[in-house]
Amino acid sequence: MRLTDLGAKFVQWTPTGYTELDSSARGANGIFFLCPTPGHAHGILLWFNNPLDCPLAPPEAPPRSRWPRMGETLDTLSLAPSINVSHDWHGYVIDGRIQ
Ligand SMILES: [Zn+2]
Repeated sequence: MRLTDLGAKFVQWTPTGYTELDSSARGANGIFFLCPTPGHAHGILLWFNNPLDCPLAPPEAPPRSRWPRMGETLDTLSLAPSINVSHDWHGYVIDGRIQ
């Protein structure tokens, strides 16, 4: 499964939530994608600790964890360490793939 199969969008933090951008990480400080667990309709929102051409999301913006981003598009994005959604999906994003 790929990020693009889960409706992934790079996002920019706003005081009321976030704005969806497109498939480029430039100008984004996070990413949103649908939960990979089959049958789950909720989304997963993550913030980067190294956004491209964009300030960091404020430290108080939930979730508090910040991920190092590698890659600049939905097809090349990798995030480490793993993403652990409590009592739900725990996995990796590597080269745009969900693992
Ligand atoms: Zn879920």
